[in-house]
Order: sequence, then structure tokens, then C-alpha cells
Amino acid sequence: PRLSRRTDIGDRIKVSFEFFPPKNDEMEGRLWETITRLEPLSPQYVSVTYGAGGSTRERTARTIGRILTGSGLKPAAHMTCVDATREDVDAVVRDFASLGVTRFVALRGDPAAGVGEAYRPHPQGYSNGAELVGAIRRIGDFEVSVSAYPEKHPESADFATDIDMLKRKVDNGATRAITQFFFDNDLYERYVERVRRAGIYIPIVPGVLPIHNFAQVANFSARCGTHVPAWLAERFAGLEKDPQTHALVAAAIAAEQVLDLVERGIEEFHFYTMNRADLAFAMCHLIGIRPQVGTAAAAA
Ligand code: FAD
Repeated sequence: PRLSRRTDIGDRIKVSFEFFPPKNDEMEGRLWETITRLEPLSPQYVSVTYGAGGSTRERTARTIGRILTGSGLKPAAHMTCVDATREDVDAVVRDFASLGVTRFVALRGDPAAGVGEAYRPHPQGYSNGAELVGAIRRIGDFEVSVSAYPEKHPESADFATDIDMLKRKVDNGATRAITQFFFDNDLYERYVERVRRAGIYIPIVPGVLPIHNFAQVANFSARCGTHVPAWLAERFAGLEKDPQTHALVAAAIAAEQVLDLVERGIEEFHFYTMNRADLAFAMCHLIGIRPQVGTAAAAA
């Protein structure tokens, strides 16, 4: 049978979930509900993002700490180079390591002024993702993931420059790349071919963004260079005031994308959860991943 119709694929597929640090108690409660629901799916790891200009350093650390003490999950800490000296960044990495973190997602980050502003590295800081990877690997034998851009990063002149940066990250010790979200699987597949031709062999894990709010996603896509195909916009057209249908359509679209990636032989997925469990849980269910009982977060 087709790959996506086989009943044994769940055993082979690995998933990870991305969260952002909650801004207040209510959001923290909601994140913990999400974590409690997703933990039984036994993700490879869960990652926690790092805000612009290091603004969420404490909140990222607190979230990571709670995951470590209150669940059986393995957290990965996102790190950026924005507005920080090399010493500052190294200190944050050591702090995370002292909490028990062994996985990092290393990023250059965006200017605190906002996406679209020209990036200026801190004069005493790391200037890009590749330098940060090297720094983290010098501090310890950590697993370091990096970003990858199937539609190239908006600041990259062309694909060759973009993939050259990925190559530098791998040369400095990156062990996995997670892609920016995308909606056209052909673009992802073409990108992976380009990456392999450049002699890069680490996993290029598709980052999947289930669409909780199409208007917001379309807006964000325009800023980060993700193409929103006309067919996708058409499917959400007219649903602005119909959240129920919007949610069903979003689930169908995410399912279509994920199952098509399975057909293409993909066995590792990273879900941008937006701190919500439903769509990520449903996508895992579709690809054969079933909850294991008796996890720590549920008991806590
Ligand atoms: P890099 O890999 O250093 O560079 C990206 C590309 O830009 C390169 O391909 C390179 O060709 C080009 N480039 C870099 N510098 C220059 C230059 N000086 N001139 C010309 N071209 C250049 N942001 C956060 O703030 N916090 C997060 O937690 C976070 N998590 C993310 C997780 C994932 C999986 C992804 C894909 C992105 C994440 N981001 C996060 C967003 C990311 O910080 C931005 O996309 C940022 O603009 C680039 O960071 P990077 O590490 O990809 O950059």
C-alpha cells in the first residue's frame, strides 16, 4: 500500500514540538495543558523559543526548567545572537546546561526592532547562526539544530548563498536542520535536493505549521518569505468569521501536507504548535503515533 496508508509507519516516524514561553499565568496554564496532552506521544524532544533581543531569556529558562522537572520530555533551548556579547551568550548556554539541557536550536535571530530591519550583529557578539553553533559546541557536546529555508531566507541573495550558510553551520557542528514553515511540499523537496548536492547530509526536518489563524499566518508568511499559494488562500477565503469551518479546513490542509510528506518518504517532523495541542495531536494520530500511558506531566 501507499506509505501513508500503511499501519506500521508510526513506529518509524519521529516528531518534535515547538512551544513559545508563555507571557502570563493564564498562558502558562494553557501551555501546560498542551504539554500534558502531547507528552504521551513520546516526542523526540520539545523546543522552547527565545524572544527578540533575548527578551524572553528568563521566561525561556523558566519554561525549560518546568519541562525538566514536571515532565519526562527532553527540552531543546532556542538561542539567538541578538543584542548580546559572546560572553553573555556563552553564559546563557552554560546556565541552560546546568539545568540539564543537552539540546539547543541555534539561530542568528532578528533585530529587536522587528523582522525586515537590517540585522546588525552586536560588536562583541556572534554574527550569525554558524558562529553560534561553533560556540555552543565548544562549551559542550550538545545536540545543536539550526534553521533551514526551503524558499531561502529573505536576506539571502540566492540559494547558493543561503545553502552556503547552512554548510557553515554543519561544518561548525550542527546535527539537524529544521525548516521554516512552508505550504508547498515541492519547494521543500527541491530544496532538500539542492542541499544534498551541496554535500550536506544532516536531516532537514520539515517544520509544519498547522494554520490556527489564516490571516495571521498569511501576514507572517509575507515577512519571512514563505509563499502562500493561491489555492491555500482560496480555501480559507470567506472563513474569517466562521471559526468552526476554519478549524476543520485547517486540519484538512495540515493533514494533506503531512500525509503527502510521508508519501515522499519523510520520517521526521517538527510541529510549530503555537502552544496548542489539537492540530499537532491530530497530525501525529494520522501518521500512526499513538499515546503511551503513564507519563510524568499527566501525573504532576
Ligand atoms: P542565519 O542562519 O545566520 O542566516 C540566515 C540566512 O541569512 C543565511 O542563509 C544567510 O545566507 C543570510 N544571511 C545572514 N547574514 C547575512 C548577511 N550579513 N548578509 C547577507 N545574508 C545574510 N527567531 C527568534 O528570535 N527566536 C527563536 O527561537 C527562533 N526560532 C526559530 C526556529 C526555526 C526552526 C526557524 C526556521 C527560525 C527561527 N527563528 C527564531 C527565526 C530566525 O531567527 C530568523 O529567521 C532570522 O532572520 C535568521 O536566523 P538564522 O539563524 O536562520 O540565521
